[in-house]
Amino acid sequence: MSNPQPTASPDEARSTRVVIVGAGPIGLELAVALRRCGIEFELFDAGSIGHTISWWAPQTRWFSSNERIAIAGVPLLTSDQSKATREQYLTYLRGVATQFEIRVHTQCPVVNIARDDSDRFAVTTKPGGQPSVWSAEAVVLAIGGTDFPKRLGIPGEDLPHVDGYLRETHRYFGRDVLIVGGRNSAIEAALRLHHAGANVSLSYRGSEVPEDHIKYWLLPEIKGLLAAGRIGDFTGTLPVRITSECVHLQSIDDGSIVEVKADDVLTLIGYEQDKTLMRMAGIELSDSMQRPTYDENTMQTNVPGIYIAGTATAGTQSSKYKTFLENCHDHVDKIVAHLSGRHIDSAPLQYRDQIMTQPES
Ligand SMILES: Cc1cc2nc3c(=O)[nH]c(=O)nc-3n(C[C@H](O)[C@H](O)[C@H](O)COP(=O)(O)OP(=O)(O)OC[C@H]3O[C@@H](n4cnc5c(N)ncnc54)[C@H](O)[C@@H]3O)c2cc1C
Repeated sequence: MSNPQPTASPDEARSTRVVIVGAGPIGLELAVALRRCGIEFELFDAGSIGHTISWWAPQTRWFSSNERIAIAGVPLLTSDQSKATREQYLTYLRGVATQFEIRVHTQCPVVNIARDDSDRFAVTTKPGGQPSVWSAEAVVLAIGGTDFPKRLGIPGEDLPHVDGYLRETHRYFGRDVLIVGGRNSAIEAALRLHHAGANVSLSYRGSEVPEDHIKYWLLPEIKGLLAAGRIGDFTGTLPVRITSECVHLQSIDDGSIVEVKADDVLTLIGYEQDKTLMRMAGIELSDSMQRPTYDENTMQTNVPGIYIAGTATAGTQSSKYKTFLENCHDHVDKIVAHLSGRHIDSAPLQYRDQIMTQPES
């Protein structure tokens, strides 16, 4: 691998030009772009390469077409031309890292970023729980925006059978599962678990599932199964209490309570960004989504030398997700241009026709 670690005593900071925090698709795409320009870097991830995708349930498919989530100009091919699964995409990311000889410091959370005496950044990582400091001229935060499941804020939410993640579908066979949520993740989970032999119910606060926010290939089936009572229809309700046996759902219309039996409760209502590192680094966060402040032409934040890339730019997205991998590729070009002293007026041509506000259906 060609970004070998310089040797250093334990107390001495190791040095590089750019530290990239986050080896998701955008962090990795940026690493390849820096390699192509001959800019020295080190790439860290708190988990493995593509950590965010690694916690999706097995065999989950991307909603986006393969060409929109491919990175670094490497084609993403599947044997049947279908949209890539979690497994295919993780394999693809490993292949990209291998092809371009990108060394990723995995299981290496970055826990602090501070200015040092020579006006560089001291970036503290904790491999194996032991602090290790890197000195860098610039830092890029490609940290994503889905660190924790959003919470309902109701009694019983911390019981062990309540989960913000869909696990392998096999484990739900023959069980009563209540899913809270009404957008793609919740609807896809409801359909997959129904087909895997679970007894599924769906609680959603709207009076019906939000058609505009559900992929067209999921919609007819969920509507049909809800109408036929094969998936329990609790639209127009809010969970107010969870016990070890059931969930109390309150009607939005009249406030009445219904108790729904549940062996498992899945709260698939979205995810929140961890703001700790951005706050430590002095990045200003604005509006209800606590979006980091940055210059859209360069991706540099209000802290000179610290850049932001990928879905991290959007903060904690509300239920209407607008920032996806597929409309973030131009961040890479902007950062490389700024670091290498080139200037670009707008998104590069190869991405301009791909910029959109929703993943492709
Ligand atoms: C079920 C599901 C389906 C989806 N389908 C699509 C889709 O079809 N199309 C689409 O565009 N998007 C989709 N998404 C969203 C998708 O996850 C993101 O678009 C994509 O992962 C964003 O890439 P990223 O590189 O910006 O961030 P991420 O992939 O989130 O990568 C961020 C990385 O930063 C690391 N990190 C965070 N903090 C630290 C730290 N302090 N130190 C070190 N490392 C850190 C994380 O471990 C992670 O690996 C989907 C999401 C879900 C849950």
